[in-house]
Amino acid sequence: MLWKCSVCGYIHTGTEAPEKCPKCGAPKEKFSALSEEEAKKISDSDRTNDIHMEIIKLAMRIKELAKEGIEINLDPPCVALFKQAHDESLVIKQRSKAEIAGHVSRGKW
Ligand SMILES: [Zn+2]
Repeated sequence: MLWKCSVCGYIHTGTEAPEKCPKCGAPKEKFSALSEEEAKKISDSDRTNDIHMEIIKLAMRIKELAKEGIEINLDPPCVALFKQAHDESLVIKQRSKAEIAGHVSRGKW
């Protein structure tokens, strides 16, 4: 069961609401149980955020590999390809970061 603090939005998982909100200190009465639908939305966006985090990590890995390829400097077409992969990895990373920030500002997590 998920419980939401009406003061700060903290989400608690458990059979009961906590005695005190771990984030803002509000008492138990300030917590309300979320409906199944709301709980599903939260777990879906939780998973989605994890996927974005994983994509960011992979993009960082592509960036490292591309850098290594650029340094090896085998021939110009090969270096050009690595430079492109390097730039694209940054776009992938920034796009996922912006999306996570969007979720958080819309109260989705
Ligand atoms: Zn709170």
